[in-house]
Parts: sequence; structure tokens; C-alpha cells
Amino acid sequence: MDLAFTPEQQMIADVIDAFAREVLLPRYAHWDRTGNLPEEQFARMGEIGLLGLRVPEAFGGQDVDAVTAGLAIEAAARGDFNCCYAILIACFAGEILGRHGDDAVKAEWLPGMASGEKIICTCLTEPQGGSDAAGIRTRAVRQGDDYVISGEKASITLVMAGHAGIVFAKTDPAAGAKGVTAFLVPFDLPGVSRAPYADLGSRGIARGSLFFDEVRIPARYRIGAEGAAFSKVMHTFDYTRALIGLMCLGAAQQSLAETVEYLKSRQSFGQPLPRYQGVSFPVAEWAAKIEMARWLCLRTLWLRDQNLPHTAEAAMCKMQCPDIAVGAIHECLLLHGHYGYTQDFPHEQRLRDVIGQQIADGTTQIQKLIVARELFGRDFV
Ligand SMILES: Cc1cc2nc3c(=O)[nH]c(=O)nc-3n(C[C@H](O)[C@H](O)[C@H](O)COP(=O)(O)OP(=O)(O)OC[C@H]3O[C@@H](n4cnc5c(N)ncnc54)[C@H](O)[C@@H]3O)c2cc1C
Repeated sequence: MDLAFTPEQQMIADVIDAFAREVLLPRYAHWDRTGNLPEEQFARMGEIGLLGLRVPEAFGGQDVDAVTAGLAIEAAARGDFNCCYAILIACFAGEILGRHGDDAVKAEWLPGMASGEKIICTCLTEPQGGSDAAGIRTRAVRQGDDYVISGEKASITLVMAGHAGIVFAKTDPAAGAKGVTAFLVPFDLPGVSRAPYADLGSRGIARGSLFFDEVRIPARYRIGAEGAAFSKVMHTFDYTRALIGLMCLGAAQQSLAETVEYLKSRQSFGQPLPRYQGVSFPVAEWAAKIEMARWLCLRTLWLRDQNLPHTAEAAMCKMQCPDIAVGAIHECLLLHGHYGYTQDFPHEQRLRDVIGQQIADGTTQIQKLIVARELFGRDFV
């Protein structure tokens, strides 16, 4: 057993860590206060390779192993949790389009995504419910050399800034999960419209709804075979759920590190605050939980790199890490006393931002369902 990172993995983690501290962190609050898209950050993230982590090298990416991608997103999240959504959806698109897309479509979209010029959203959830992903109602009907797509997607990250989406639609509504097909749909096609939400957190990256009114698209924009998308999306979620775990833990680690420094600088009753176990023990407990969860995520990504099963482990990452991050950041806010409740410190924003990941990419209940199903078998759960 060797738990050391390779020199290349460590080097990438160190580079992203410095980038997060120098470039991302100083502007983290700015995008929240203004509601503006962190476009300039995306360009710089593209320059250093953060948006092509899972894009094949032939199409402008780095195609790094899953563990390296995990270390990169964890380090970036210490600077700006919300900018990591761009990494996350780029990993999703890089994986699905990079592996299963038409070469001409990949050449058209992947290099721009890797450089930070194009955003490709993940479009699965629908207004009637996101947990039952096989129950989507958006339809794609084959007409000659084209497909015509109609329906509505809900809760799409970066939808207002997106240039295209990986859209999941039913080509055979009677076939359940086996009737789901994926398409790359450019958002400038006639019949596409969108509307933003007013969110609790992650304000600069604007989540929203997406509408398809008989959108006609050439068949080459289909990703993989008809009816083959559901298993691909689930396999990709096994990857992104471990990335999300590290993204949440990165934000929590940053709050914890800032809190340690803050507490060392304050006193009550003539003693430095960390002298009181009521202050230092919660910090020690959250540090332990973060460390345990971090290694679960890294092991899940390592299993993926070895082509070993990791569905249950990925669901455990998603089940545990956002909750741990929310708990840790909340504790950090409280340990800052009344200042923690102000916008002068980043904990209130991190808390609002990280809560989104308790819901996104499958809620905690759905992750428990997946783990239970892996443990008991489909006949029982
Ligand atoms: C910040 C954020 C970003 C997101 N980004 C994207 C994105 O980019 N693309 C995208 O497609 N979607 C995105 N989503 C949507 C997300 O994937 C869905 O919100 C999620 O899958 C849950 O679906 P829902 O909101 O419709 O809840 P529902 O499915 O309506 O569920 C409501 C509640 O019931 C619970 N529940 C449902 N079924 C069960 C069950 N069988 N057992 C126990 N409990 C159950 C759920 O856990 C939840 O608490 C995002 C969401 C958030 C908050």
C-alpha cells in the first residue's frame, strides 16, 4: 500500500494551490456581491489547464488521471468554490463527449471548453423532479438526418453563460432508462431559451431553466448510440461525486485554516481562545472528519483510475462530504463570534455556497439509496 502522490500529482496540486491563493481567493466575494460571471477567472483557469483536466489531449486537454483531477479541484475550491463549477461541468462534458462524441463535434467544442472560452452545461434535471433521472420527459424525435428536441430542463448550473449543453432526452419513452439519449445542443439554435433563478448562494454562476421548443439538430450531435445515455451519465456521476466531495472539503479546509489563525489572534478572560477546549476541540473534530472524508474521495478516484468498481464509494463521498463541509464551515462562522455573521469574513458565503452541493448531483437521500442498493442488491432496495 502506497498512499503517496506521484511527483506529477503533487506538482499539479501545488501549482493549483498557489493559483487559488493568489488569483481565486482575493476575488471570491466579488462575484457574490456583484452577481457577475467570473469570466476572467475562467480564462485564467483555462490557461493553466483546469478546464481540460478530463479532455483528451488531441482536443486541447490534459486528460489527467482521476486522482489528479481530484487534487486540482480540492486546491481550487480553497480559493473559489463557485469557480469549481466550471471545472466540474468541464470534467462531465470532457468525459461524456470526449469518450462517446462524434470527432467533428469534439473538435468544434472541446478545445474552446478547455481554454475557458466555451461553457458546456450538464442538462439532466427537469421541473417535475431530478431524483428520478430516468423519468425525464424531454423528447428527441428523429426526422431524417436531424433530431427535433422539445421539453424543459431545470436547475442548470451556468445556464445563462453556457454556450451549449449535454442534454438528456427520451428517444423511446416506453423504454425507461434505456430510452434516454444524450445530445450536444448549442444554445444559439432557434427554439432555445433560458431564464435565471435568484439563488441562496453561488450567485455569480447563475443557475436557471432551459427551454427547447422544437429545436432541430443534426444527428451527428447525438453522443453515443440511441438509448445508451443513462448508464454513461451514471458512470460519469461516479466520477463527479468524488470530485464534488473534494470540492466541498477544499472550501471547508480553507475556512478551518482561516479560523485557526483568527482564534490564535483573540483572547477572552486573559487567555488566547484556543486554550479553551470549547474552542479548540470542535476545530480538531472537524479537521478529523475532513481528513477521513478526503481519503474516501481520493480512494474512490484511485479505484476509478484502476477500472475497479466504485459506485458505492462515490455515493458515500457525495452523501458525507457536503454535510461535513456545511457543518465545519458553520462551526467556523460561530467561532468568529458576531464577525462571522458579517460579510467581512468569507464563512457566511462559503456556507451559502456549499449548501447547494447537499442537493446537486443527487441529494443525500438518493446517495443513501445507491449505497443501500449496492449493499443489499436490487431485489431488496
Ligand atoms: C446548486 C445546484 C446546482 C445544480 N446543477 C445542476 C446541473 O448543472 N444540471 C442538472 O441537470 N441539475 C442540476 N441541479 C439539480 C439537482 O441535480 C437536483 O436538484 C437533484 O437531483 C434533486 O432533484 P429535485 O431538486 O427535483 O428534487 P426531487 O427529486 O423533487 O426531490 C425532493 C426531495 O425528495 C427527496 N427524495 C426524492 N426521491 C426520494 C426517494 N426515493 N427516497 C428518499 N428521498 C427522496 C430528495 O432527496 C429531496 O430531498 C443542481 C442543483 C443545485 C442545488
